[in-house]
Order: sequence, then structure tokens, then C-alpha cells
Amino acid sequence: GSTSAHLKVENLSAGYGAFLVLRDLTLDIRPGLTVVLGPNGAGKTTLLKALNGLIPRGGNVLLNGEELPEKTHEIVQAGMALVPEGRQLFPQLTVAENLELGGWLVPKAERPQRMEQAFTNFPKLRERASQLAGTMSGGEQQMVAVARAMMCAPRLLMLDEPSLGLAPKMVDELLGIARRIADAGTTVLMVEQNVKKALAVADRGYVLERGNLVASGPAKLLARSTVIREAYLGAD
Ligand code: ATP
Repeated sequence: GSTSAHLKVENLSAGYGAFLVLRDLTLDIRPGLTVVLGPNGAGKTTLLKALNGLIPRGGNVLLNGEELPEKTHEIVQAGMALVPEGRQLFPQLTVAENLELGGWLVPKAERPQRMEQAFTNFPKLRERASQLAGTMSGGEQQMVAVARAMMCAPRLLMLDEPSLGLAPKMVDELLGIARRIADAGTTVLMVEQNVKKALAVADRGYVLERGNLVASGPAKLLARSTVIREAYLGAD
């Protein structure tokens, strides 16, 4: 993808059956790194599922001015990729095989080049290409999941809690990867529980509570805001 994505989410509603988690949610996801923060159950994962066609949605979602399709494979073809919560790798397949599966929509002739690009971007994975994904550490598996999503060269990459369960050093590494991807021109939308570290690498942030937007703005300002300091960082 050569053009960065600009995703406009207008009056989005989504939920499970009759239970609406999100109502009238409006977000403007511009090129760069945007983080969505909020406590458990705020609706962060629900937002990513709705944007990826995994659950039905209401409202308008525009990707670079064009209505986002409803079906997941069409959304992927439109240039959006998701790294789901819990990574969802194939543990019995090798790293290389997991990456190949990430390129299922890429024309066959282009796949070797994409794989080479993945190994250039994630040198640690080249050494591990033939290791079974299930035998890697949590941080390494998260890296495979990100590399797999990047195989289709998305314009917009979505990450659902990439730092979940990782040691502090790996958290920094994964958030650094998200930052690099954004700097290289892929718009990144990331859900995180790690508020302080996420705001330190992000350009902008949104804070959700019980499905509602309670704060938004440049990450630097959010990090200093009363809402964030009192609820998440422990005001001092
Ligand atoms: P977490 O960090 O815990 O994942 P979250 O902000 O991602 O939190 P969601 O997973 O989006 O929150 O959940 C929002 C609400 O939707 C919660 O009340 C949750 O119980 C509910 N919910 C999530 N998944 C389902 C489902 N499959 N069926 C019914 N309700 C669901």
C-alpha cells in the first residue's frame, strides 16, 4: 500500500444480538499511530471487530472517502488488516507457513517478495522461519502475528492489545514496531491497556468507557489530562 489510510467512523453502532456495545461512535483515524484506551469491557475489541466485518455494524465507515465493505475478505482487499487479541497463530505450523497464510490474498507470484520484506522488517523471524509458531515466546508470537498481517501490505493495520501478557522489554519492542510501521506509511490503530507506554508512542488517542468516548486528542496532551491521570496513571 502506497497511500496511508484515513478512516472516518461516523455514528458507528455495534454489539452482540440486541445488546449494543457501541452507539453513535465517531472517530477520525488519520495517518500515524492512533491508540484506543479504556477499561475492560469499554468496547475496544468490539470496535475492531465491527471495523473488520466480524460483527455487523451500523453507521458510516469511510476508508479514504469510500464506504468500507461489509465482508471481512473485502475489507482486507480494501487494505485493512487486523492482528486479533490473542494473536490466533497456527501453533503447529512454522513461522514461514504462518506468514504464507497471511498472504493468501496476495497474487502467488508476489508472495516470495512479500516474505522477504517480512524478514527484512523482522530479522528475528528470519532466524526462526522453520520453528513451530506454538513453541515461540509470547512476544515472538506477537511479532509473527504482526508480520503475518503485514503480508497483505495493508494501508491500515489494527492491533488488539499487542502488549497483553508480555514482559516489559517485549512490550517496548512491540510498541516500537507499531511506531515504525506507522512511520513507514501504514496507518496504525491500536487498542492498548498499557496506557502510559501506548500514549508515549502514539500520535493521537481516544478513551472509551462503557461504549462512550470520554476523551480524545493528541497523545501528549491526553497523557497530561486529568481524565487519564486520575483513571489510569494514578495522579501524583
Ligand atoms: P477487554 O479489554 O476486556 O477486551 P474491551 O474494551 O475490548 O475490553 P469488549 O470486548 O469490546 O471490551 O466488550 C464490550 C462489551 O461487550 C462487554 O460488556 C462484553 O461483555 C460484551 N461482549 C463482548 N463480546 C461479546 C459476545 N461475543 N457476546 C456478547 N457480549 C459480548
